Amino acid sequence: MGELLDNLKQLVDLDRTFGIEFQGKPAPTPLLPVSKALLTHVAPVRQSVSPPAALSSAPRLAASLPAASGLAAADLDAIAAAVARCTACGLCSGRTKTVPGEGATSPELVFIGEGPGADEDASGRPFVGAAGQLLDKMIVAMGLQRSDVFICNVVKCRPPSNRAPEPDEIASCLPYLEAQLDALKPKVICLLGATPLKALLGLSGITRIHGQRQEWRGIPTIPTFHPAYLLRNTEAKKPAWDDLKIVLSLLGRETPKR
Ligand code: SF4
Repeated sequence: MGELLDNLKQLVDLDRTFGIEFQGKPAPTPLLPVSKALLTHVAPVRQSVSPPAALSSAPRLAASLPAASGLAAADLDAIAAAVARCTACGLCSGRTKTVPGEGATSPELVFIGEGPGADEDASGRPFVGAAGQLLDKMIVAMGLQRSDVFICNVVKCRPPSNRAPEPDEIASCLPYLEAQLDALKPKVICLLGATPLKALLGLSGITRIHGQRQEWRGIPTIPTFHPAYLLRNTEAKKPAWDDLKIVLSLLGRETPKR
C-alpha cells in the first residue's frame, strides 16, 4: 500500500515538475515474473588498493568474465567487483565510491547515463540526485517501477567537478558497460544524453537524433535527453516524453492513459 501511495504521489508530481499530463495509476505489478529479492541488484561497493592483476584494467575484463550464461546476477556481481578494483583510468584517483549500476537482473529496459555526480559518488548508486529523482518520475510515468529496469552510466567513477568524461576515460570504462549489457540482455536500451550516444553508437547530435531508433548489437536503442538537461531546459520535457513513448512501443507496452 505504501509503495502504491508513493507512486500516486509521484504521478501528481509529474504535472508539476515534469510537465506530463497523466491520469490513472502505474502498473501495480512488477514487469517481470521474478521474486522481489531477485529483482533488485544493488551492486556491492568494494574498494581495493591493490587490485588483482587479472582484473586491474577494463580492457582485460571482457576476457576475464564468464561467457554469457544466463546467470546475469552473478555476472553483474563480477563486473561490480572488477569496477570496484579498477584503476584503468585517472578517474579512480578522485572517486569516493565506484558506481557500477543497479536494478533488475533481467530487465526489459536499461537506461544509460553519462557518469556519477556528487550524490552518486557518495552513495555508490546511480541517479540518486535531482536528475535521478526526475528519472524516477519518468519511469513511473511509463507505468514502470525503478526496480523493473537497470540504470547505469558510461563511466563508473565520478569525473571531477562533474565534467564530461574524456574519450580515453570512456574507452577505458566501456568494456564494463558492454559486459553489463551482454549479461542483462535487455529488450530495449535508452541512452540518456550525448555521452552514451557517442560512447555506444559513435553518434553525435542528441538534439537531432533523440527519439530515432538505433541499434546496439541488435538491441533497439532510443536516445533521449539526460534528466539533468531536462531540469535546465523544461521545453525539452515534452519531446523527451515522446521518446519514452517510443521506448514503450518497442517494449510492446501501452502508454499509460492520459
Ligand atoms: S571510470 Fe571506469 S575505467 Fe576509469 S577507473 Fe573507474 S571503473 Fe576504471
